[in-house]
Amino acid sequence: MRSRCAFVTGCVLALLAPAPAAAQVTAIRAGRLVDPEAGTASSNQVILVENGRFTAIGSNVPIPPGAEVIDLSQLTVLPGLVDAHNHLALTYKEEPENNVYYLTYVLDSTPLRAIQAASNGMQMLSSGFTIVRDMGNNGNYADTALRQAIEQGWIPGPTIINSGIIIGGMGGQFWPTPEMAKDRNIVYPEYLDADTPDEIVKAVRQNALFGAKVIKICVDCKPWGYTVEEIRLFISEAAKAGLKVEGHVQTVDGARRAIEAGIWSIAHDSGLNDEMHKGMAAKGIFRAGTETPISLTGHTSGQRYQRTVTGLKNAYDNRVPLTFSTDADYYVPGMTRGEVAISFIETWKAAGIPDVDILRAMTINGYRVSETLNTRGPIRTGLIADLIAVRGNPLEDIETLRNVQFVMKDGMVFKRDGVMTPEKFFNGGPVNGWRIR
Ligand SMILES: [Zn+2]
Repeated sequence: MRSRCAFVTGCVLALLAPAPAAAQVTAIRAGRLVDPEAGTASSNQVILVENGRFTAIGSNVPIPPGAEVIDLSQLTVLPGLVDAHNHLALTYKEEPENNVYYLTYVLDSTPLRAIQAASNGMQMLSSGFTIVRDMGNNGNYADTALRQAIEQGWIPGPTIINSGIIIGGMGGQFWPTPEMAKDRNIVYPEYLDADTPDEIVKAVRQNALFGAKVIKICVDCKPWGYTVEEIRLFISEAAKAGLKVEGHVQTVDGARRAIEAGIWSIAHDSGLNDEMHKGMAAKGIFRAGTETPISLTGHTSGQRYQRTVTGLKNAYDNRVPLTFSTDADYYVPGMTRGEVAISFIETWKAAGIPDVDILRAMTINGYRVSETLNTRGPIRTGLIADLIAVRGNPLEDIETLRNVQFVMKDGMVFKRDGVMTPEKFFNGGPVNGWRIR
């Protein structure tokens, strides 16, 4: 029965659900419960969780006898956060590589990067990020390994929407020497070359086969870049595997082609002006602007930061679907990966975006771009039980998100009273099923 249905999409999806444990009910007392979409908060709510899913939510929900009660009555409960663009299996550093990731790629093996990704994932989860879109630069599919390890039940971590290898024209984002590119194939596996229609189809299929949940392409990493027709080919081929396409875009021309082709999301803001924002809003194209805060010294400049803030404000004014995205792929001494990611709210505040809309970008739009809206994200009966809690009210002060006190993922407690307590996530085998690929 199981072997027959393993190849049916519905059955595979069923296998992804958390394994039914003993029917223990968990009851969470929430002092305040925030609904980011409505922009409202309700006080003194009870949230019931059973078999990893929300089963009841409300002020008059009775707590069943024998339920484990988690008292968050002094805290504000809200849905988990989403970083729509991160690179968990890449961490470049001042020492020894002077923040040049070309060298990180040569220095750090894929196995080491997969372990870094596991650590970075836990650091993200500790900061309240229950979903991370991991958009390439992960060596030889360390991102897929991370997702599988989390989904199979080996380690805790955010829900990972991973891209596999970034697909680009020859060279990817690198400018290799002929001997290193042609004789040593140095660009692979950091980038996957695709310069012709046949190669585009083959590259998309390779990533789908090796576990990608979204396709990431370099629209204009080289001056020639991809044409509208080529981007459309990516989109149609990816759609066969049920995948959307995100474009790394760095020029206005690249943005124009990506928008005309109808891409799902655009990463980075340097090619996005008022005209592009209007086009994105008209087509509902998500913006993953990766707006680096000025406080992350060395990762942006004063001039660059001002352009970023102005661009984000313009996108907001044009009603572009905004996601919270960091491109965090470096080590900031003294900070976890999660603390680096959450620090990006600094840029959003500088752009004058109201706290409620920053929260919407970090939650509801994050679920939309991740396509999890109907499975996980919102605190809603029937959905998988992910939630976080903070002191204070993020609708009035988004800075409260810098200090996440409580994290639940898949109905299990990952962090309580500001301390990680993830033991339930560690298992000696793939408790959720080895077939999860
Ligand atoms: Zn990136």
